[in-house]
Amino acid sequence: MPKVVSRSAVSSSTDAQPTASSAASLRVYYCICGEFILVIDKSLATLPRRKTDNAIIVRSRDNNADKARIFKLNAVAEEPILLERPGGHEKQYRFHCPRCSLKIGYQTSPPPVKNAPFLYILSGSLTLMQGQLPPDAFDGENDA
Ligand SMILES: [Zn+2]
Repeated sequence: MPKVVSRSAVSSSTDAQPTASSAASLRVYYCICGEFILVIDKSLATLPRRKTDNAIIVRSRDNNADKARIFKLNAVAEEPILLERPGGHEKQYRFHCPRCSLKIGYQTSPPPVKNAPFLYILSGSLTLMQGQLPPDAFDGENDA
């Protein structure tokens, strides 16, 4: 496979100056191990969260009222698991980091990503800055 060299160097250096390009509005998120995981057109901090597990809700498909977010997920799909929820069960198709296997998120339909109305990002799994621990990294430590 040919190696694609990107000129829009996404680095963890002090490149905080705003640029005029549309790419400036894209946020890049990394796993705690430093692996690139997610690029998205909106800050995860501003997205709604699920009441059940506090996961961040990323809309993957348009509906009448809302547009899907523009994003790309770099993660490995797992076999589905069945979770007990109040009032029933929920099937989760989870994704993990390709490098360290940390759980990143899940959706409720089989892969590929965006084959479900929403992608859920686990709280505290991703960080904006490479090698920097998110403030909520240890949230949900006792979750299954
Ligand atoms: Zn990782």
